[in-house]
Amino acid sequence: MTDADWRTDAGLPRFPRLVPHSFARLIDEADGAGRLALARQIEPSPEEDVFALEETSDPLGEGRYLVTPYLVHQYPNRVLALVTGKCLGHCRYCFRKSFTARSRGFLSEAEQDAIVAYLANTPAVREILVSGGDPLTAPPDSLFAFLEKLRAVRSDLLIRLCTRGPVFAPEKFTPEFVHRLAALQPLWVIPHINHPAELGAAQRDCITALRTAGIPQQSQTVLLRGVNDSPELLAELFHELVCLGVKPGYLFQCDLAPGTASFRVPPDEGMHIWLRLRDMLSGLSLPQYAVDLPGGGGKFPLSVPALSDRVLPNSTDVSLRIQGNDGKVYRYPLTNV
Ligand SMILES: *Cc1c(COP(=O)(O)O)cnc(C)c1O
Repeated sequence: MTDADWRTDAGLPRFPRLVPHSFARLIDEADGAGRLALARQIEPSPEEDVFALEETSDPLGEGRYLVTPYLVHQYPNRVLALVTGKCLGHCRYCFRKSFTARSRGFLSEAEQDAIVAYLANTPAVREILVSGGDPLTAPPDSLFAFLEKLRAVRSDLLIRLCTRGPVFAPEKFTPEFVHRLAALQPLWVIPHINHPAELGAAQRDCITALRTAGIPQQSQTVLLRGVNDSPELLAELFHELVCLGVKPGYLFQCDLAPGTASFRVPPDEGMHIWLRLRDMLSGLSLPQYAVDLPGGGGKFPLSVPALSDRVLPNSTDVSLRIQGNDGKVYRYPLTNV
């Protein structure tokens, strides 16, 4: 894939509607507010035809870091494999919505071999994120053949399976599927979950089955206007996840993909939401709030500038001066004297 594959523009084909059965059921079962929040994520709206100036078809600048046609190597120790263009459902705020390989199926043998060869020759890479599209759209035998090749060439490689499957298609996690995944350790599942109403009975069973099989999970959530832009609602989500054995990993700022302005919460408002969350939640339940800097700048934690507001200017002193939750100034020495 080249930069041209991601070219944006007016005249961009509309992102087709795709609502998975299990998610439609969640929408039916949710209460009024939950139903709106879930439907808003998946039902097309005319707001998607409004394009903002700063939006682009490759908001993360991933095209710059491709080392094989479908492998992104941006950080020294970890890579991202785009194993398929297909998704289980089309999230309307998707940052890869204009990925022209979107309808493409699973990696060909040659594309898999290119990835495997790169990993064999690049020991500095310690982790691979298997993403797409959604890897769970692949026939299980194709997915496992690829994962097993990764494992064969690098027994040490940490595999992170990034998917919306536990919410969109929990039925795919059959006992056999979970058993085969568990055999590939070290492997984490990274489910994408945005709202407490996404945790229905089938979804909870799926997460529990993964946990029971010994597969650790870290969730990711996108901060979305009209979906989850409330500290109380997010606190509920993250607490529920921890109760299910899932560590909340990231709360992401919504990326600048074409036609997604109605979903974006401005970062200063996001930082206020995150600060409220920090007061409401334990360290275990609190994710990092981060933005993928447009154009390829990488992930940047927005929780840092919010915190640094309370790191006070240092005079002649040799300590960090930090304002505590009670407003008082606390010191931590900068040197070991
Ligand atoms: C997000 C991402 C990663 C993983 O970063 P973490 O901070 O470890 O989650 C790796 N590569 C790319 C290209 C990414 O976008």
